[in-house]
Amino acid sequence: MASSILEALEIIANNITPIDKEIIPIELSVGRVVTEDYVASFDLPRFNNSAMDGYAVKIADATKKVTCAEVIYAGDNPEMTLEEKTAIKIMTGAPIPKGCEAIVPIENVSIENDLITLPSDIQNNGFIRMAGEDIKKGTIFLSKGEVINAYTVASLASQGITHVTVSRIIKVAIFGTGDELRPHFEKIEAHQLYNSNSPMFLTRCKDLGCDVRFIRTSADTLEALEASIKSTLDADIIITSGGVSVGDKDFTKEAFTNLGMHVLIDKIDIKPGRPTIVGTINRTVIINLPGNPLASMVNYELFIRAILRKMSGRTDYHHGTITTVMKSDFSVRGGKHAVILGRFDGHSFEPLKPQMPGMVSPMQEADGMILITPDVKVLETRKTVKMIPIKWEFCSDKNEVLFTS
Ligand code: AMP
Ligand code: MG
Repeated sequence: MASSILEALEIIANNITPIDKEIIPIELSVGRVVTEDYVASFDLPRFNNSAMDGYAVKIADATKKVTCAEVIYAGDNPEMTLEEKTAIKIMTGAPIPKGCEAIVPIENVSIENDLITLPSDIQNNGFIRMAGEDIKKGTIFLSKGEVINAYTVASLASQGITHVTVSRIIKVAIFGTGDELRPHFEKIEAHQLYNSNSPMFLTRCKDLGCDVRFIRTSADTLEALEASIKSTLDADIIITSGGVSVGDKDFTKEAFTNLGMHVLIDKIDIKPGRPTIVGTINRTVIINLPGNPLASMVNYELFIRAILRKMSGRTDYHHGTITTVMKSDFSVRGGKHAVILGRFDGHSFEPLKPQMPGMVSPMQEADGMILITPDVKVLETRKTVKMIPIKWEFCSDKNEVLFTS
């Protein structure tokens, strides 16, 4: 029986388990998922230090004239103690001397005849960066299941950490099925078709950080399909497209079943892409997508992305949404749980027109997709919609207002 979209996502969440781990240098860790909590072994900043180039002073000296005989630079280890009626010149990042109650920035003092006049409004601890105000010793600064980005690398480096334990890279194998298909780098006859799905999945899986290979397209026979499956069973995930519906030569499911596939999802109540199958053979996860390019892409974005996130050990494996509004009216046939691909310009969602399951060209324009229930017949202009993003980098073809005021 077909699963609903939400049931399929739940089956994925409950059945896909995290892959094994490896230890890698932090410089190579961007995009990887950490498999343990990282606890700060010391405070950051390590010691109270100056946030400005200025003077270390006592609060009681506000508005007074003080002398200054010493300077502390970043990297110094000052031994002196600040006395009243004096100031110590101090540079950004330099350790605060004993007895100092605040830093006054250079631009807030006036200097005449070697005497420094301090301002009236000196706050206790003003312009002092306190030890541990950034990362406190003993706290978790990077949690198991988080994805590392360049700024996580900054936190790791600030703690003197050279290597991290992460989920290993997921190995994906891809093949298409269909006697009509030819690889895009070969000559083609008028009745044949280039295989666009396999290169699409290959590059999308690479986008998402996988180690991917694609093998020659399988002919539409059980023998050819079983041979293709056997040669890819060492992968963590096998993604196929085509041969999953009710055609006379649709043998994909039978071939995987013959080789021991345990079926987790057999068809999904979704338009486009109903014939999708998800299963396992031992530890290898199998995903059979429909052959129609746009249908397979939609199912890839909804279900394979969730599988990859769960397998990589991420704790945030659920889809997130952006709440936006419809740019214009859009009518749908209704009666199905359907997916609509569209453009998002940061202000509104505009469905791609036309978008048919067998099309290739609309996919490259899609920033995201919205899911609609069977009762929806028309989405009116300005109606609030929830978009699952496909692209995360939002750019504009015009100068946008960048400030919040
Ligand atoms: P199928 O699911 O095998 O019935 O295929 C459905 C439609 O998708 C047919 O028109 C196929 O020619 C087309 N198709 C199947 N596989 C691919 C592929 N790898 N690349 C492009 N189109 C495909
Ligand atoms: Mg086919």
